[in-house]
Amino acid sequence: MRASGFFIHSTKEPPAEAELASHRLMLRAGFIRKHAGGIYSWLPAGWRAARKVAAIVREEMDAAGCAEVYMPAAQPAGLWEESGRWGEYGAELLRFADRRGREFCLAPTHEEAVTDIVRAHVSSYRQMPFNLYQIQTKFRDEIRPRFGVMRAREFLMKDAYSFDADEDGMRRSYETMRRAYCRIFDRIGLRYRMVEADSGAIGGNISHEFMVLADSGEEVILYCEKSGYAANRERAACPPPQEKRPPPGEPLCKVATPGIKTIEQLAAFLGENAPPPSRNVKTMLVRGGAGVAAVLLQGGHTLNLVKASRRPEIGAGAELLPPEEAKKHAGAGFGSLGPVNMPLPVVADFGLAAAADFVCGACEDGFHYTGANFGRDCPEPQFADMRDAAAGDPSPDGAGELSECRGIEVGHIFQLGGKYSESMGALADAPEGGARPIMMGCYGIGITRIVAAAVEQGHDSRGIIFPDAVAPFEAAVAVIGGGEKVVAAAEKLYAELRAAGVDALLDDRGMRPGVMFAELDLLGIPHRLVVGARGLENGAAEYKHRAADKTETAPLAAAAEFVRNKIRR
Ligand code: ATP
Ligand code: MG
Repeated sequence: MRASGFFIHSTKEPPAEAELASHRLMLRAGFIRKHAGGIYSWLPAGWRAARKVAAIVREEMDAAGCAEVYMPAAQPAGLWEESGRWGEYGAELLRFADRRGREFCLAPTHEEAVTDIVRAHVSSYRQMPFNLYQIQTKFRDEIRPRFGVMRAREFLMKDAYSFDADEDGMRRSYETMRRAYCRIFDRIGLRYRMVEADSGAIGGNISHEFMVLADSGEEVILYCEKSGYAANRERAACPPPQEKRPPPGEPLCKVATPGIKTIEQLAAFLGENAPPPSRNVKTMLVRGGAGVAAVLLQGGHTLNLVKASRRPEIGAGAELLPPEEAKKHAGAGFGSLGPVNMPLPVVADFGLAAAADFVCGACEDGFHYTGANFGRDCPEPQFADMRDAAAGDPSPDGAGELSECRGIEVGHIFQLGGKYSESMGALADAPEGGARPIMMGCYGIGITRIVAAAVEQGHDSRGIIFPDAVAPFEAAVAVIGGGEKVVAAAEKLYAELRAAGVDALLDDRGMRPGVMFAELDLLGIPHRLVVGARGLENGAAEYKHRAADKTETAPLAAAAEFVRNKIRR
């Protein structure tokens, strides 16, 4: 590609609204153009990067034996009514009517469509397993589209769906995809981690996420260097303590605590008598689909609403009860609640399983108890894992300690089981006779998000530093000055690079070197060769890697091979 005929339009001024480096740099480099919140055009250089990602994904999916399809973005409401998601999906599903008034949506994911295809064609275990995938536009009316294409409303996803006759088969298909994902992310060349995940609204049981590691990532990852355990924060398990609860040692004592609302205020108020966090009970009221419950946690711990949603007393969609409703449900406001005299069902986090003589609210405004004990002063509660894991916690597999880091979710794999095949009637004859729901898995990769994640992981003050596999061009030949000999030498080198299979850009725009280099640096092109009159006299080109400080000299005749050998694919 020649830069003179390519659409390169970078700008110096970062847009004010861009918070993340990747958003700022992708706009500055002229990779993307915003038309509305979360809705972007991809311009040539940016699109080349996205296509590089898509090509790797496609190669590895094909290599794993998957078959590519292409399903529609606009889908009839009827399909989504069959799965039950027309009602469940909420406002992220963009709905509209066609000219005859029939309802449609723009698909945020394609389980319904692919299940509709499969139920029409597959009726026997003999026709499985297989896996259908596509690289296709998704639309999600995100509540907060932000960070450019990182969380867009319209974006490109690779989604794949596996179909098996039984659960063992489904697990094998899942394992095949897990391995394919590792190959994909290895090839893309970003630092990443596979973590256990919660399967959330899509359903099913087992699920993993692939996270590109970056401090700006929205996800928190808990991992253990020693055991290899890794999970996202929603999921990371906090097992019950090993130690047993000591018997009660103090009498229950009611203390007036006027105006005390928080754990910190209480500790300050009690001064020397303040208990350690492990005996300071924080009580929160949580409402989900099944009802309202009081959740008890150690003072310093954080409630995990995903875990709360799994409790039968609370149910799906758990959220904190609004403070103004506390009195109606529990007889006192936030800050004065506790298990003693609590009229609601009580679930205590495992972190309190060994707590005796604790401090808690009295369920009466302005009062607390000290010396409270489960079983003696209030019923023994249900104990469960209800909190966020944090750095320093023991690893749930028993070896070592958890550490925390942040990541960007770029891929997600689920075992769906019969969730869609049951509701949509995708059945197949079983070997022993009778028809059974087909066992499915689904597997997503955010193609366009990966480009943003690559920029987030690789950039400096001058711009983007792409890994070779994602860069819009692997190498650039910068032509300095318009001398006939220089141009001829640069053209020759450019041809040699292409012949060596290097994806090269010939910067023939005749710009001043400083301006040209700044732009090539901003775009993140990893390998740069400069051909100018001075070097030419010595038969040399000047080489520089985007991330290096120093330039190197390469003999012009061997420069293409020199660069070829530096490229990591
Ligand atoms: P998130 O938690 O970030 O909203 P998700 O769990 O909704 O992601 P999935 O439904 O698993 O995402 O979609 C598969 C992949 O699609 C994600 O791993 C991510 O890489 C990508 N993706 C999801 N939402 C967006 C978005 N709004 N913009 C860009 N990519 C996205
Ligand atoms: Mg989402």
